Amino acid sequence: MQRHQFEAYLDKVFDWRRLTAVLTEGRQYPLYPWSEAFDAVFLGSACQFGPLHRIETECRCGALHKRIGTLSEDMLAYAMQRQNPAEIFSLGCQVAQQLKRNGVLRSDWARGRVVAAVDGIEICSSYCRCCDACMSREVERKVEGKLQKSTQYYHRLSAVTVVSGAFPIFLGVRFQQDGETEVACSLALLQDLSAKLGRRFIDILVADAIYLQTSFVREVELLALDWVINLKDNQPDLLAEAGRLTAGAPLYHETTPQQDLQLWHVPEVDWPVADRVVRVVKTVRVQNAKRVKVEERPVEVPRIEETQAGKTKGKSSKRKKPKCSRVKTKQLAPIVSTNFYASNVDLGAIPPYFIHQLGGSRWTIDAQVFQTITTDCHLKRPSAHQDCALIVLTMIRVLAYTLTMVFYYRQVRSHCRGVPPGFCDMARQLAYGYLTLFSDSS
Ligand SMILES: [Zn+2]
Repeated sequence: MQRHQFEAYLDKVFDWRRLTAVLTEGRQYPLYPWSEAFDAVFLGSACQFGPLHRIETECRCGALHKRIGTLSEDMLAYAMQRQNPAEIFSLGCQVAQQLKRNGVLRSDWARGRVVAAVDGIEICSSYCRCCDACMSREVERKVEGKLQKSTQYYHRLSAVTVVSGAFPIFLGVRFQQDGETEVACSLALLQDLSAKLGRRFIDILVADAIYLQTSFVREVELLALDWVINLKDNQPDLLAEAGRLTAGAPLYHETTPQQDLQLWHVPEVDWPVADRVVRVVKTVRVQNAKRVKVEERPVEVPRIEETQAGKTKGKSSKRKKPKCSRVKTKQLAPIVSTNFYASNVDLGAIPPYFIHQLGGSRWTIDAQVFQTITTDCHLKRPSAHQDCALIVLTMIRVLAYTLTMVFYYRQVRSHCRGVPPGFCDMARQLAYGYLTLFSDSS
């Protein structure tokens, strides 16, 4: 059978067919093999079809009909509920190892280091749908105009993403358990990844301020990782000391048309609660960004024309009250941001500006990865909302995101002569490819 170019690429680079063939069957008496269910969810997610019922439709009479054939949404959910998530996690690690061997995780700015960001994201929040693994909280919300307390169900997961390469790559995700903090969940994920991928697979971990905790930092160092973590007021003593030591003139000052950057560096700042010293870098950045300012001002509605009198009979002589309309105006307004970073990175001869670059790379996970995987790859869509099925579905969606990203950057964009298509356009082309491939060969 002719292979779609996306799958042919995965076979060539990752030996994909062999990797996925060894996934074990979770059901006792399956009507269809797990490999078909996996392919349906994986390829459906790669084509950004989103919910399972859409994948079912595409399998029954759409793009995936000839590649997969008819499969029901219920069957896909039933199969995923009985699979072992650890196998999908391992599959993701094998993909990451191959990408590292192929040199995809490195870039010039990171000075040969592999940099990963850790962060959490909330998915599937709902007031009515829940499963055995849901977390819950009491929230106040308006129901029929009245404020009332309601139970909201949700899931949270931690993700570790390589941010030093040309494009972000997920190494793994882990669902937060009820009663577990995001930091504890992320640490367990890092330990699982270290066990699978080996020590020093990543060199430097970057994280938000909630991760700047004595125990987390100690455990991360036991995994042989360097770290750069935002310093905020959850560590008040360290922040106050860092502020005091960086009150003078900056070490470094850079002015470009886009921004003005000042940087301070203190190699050793006392962190009393952790009984140690840490390196601190402070930056003040003034960006000359064009900000869209939304102004509200009254705009008069024009008099209704006589020619429209047929439609508006009896109203033509009335003049409506001036309406309030929102008017967008563009203006140049500088954005000032001050950041403190704490770190254990041994800089040696490397300038402290590197810590600023590392700290800034964390934004990739929020601004790029979580945005794209939520909007384009439907991560928050609660298809198959049942503990294990949701975990397996999410892991397959994450894997599909990573591999379509790899295909997009290493195959589509790099081989494109004109203006490259967008990430979503590529997903549409993948789907179209399944339609035309099998109609051409039939
Ligand atoms: Zn749930």
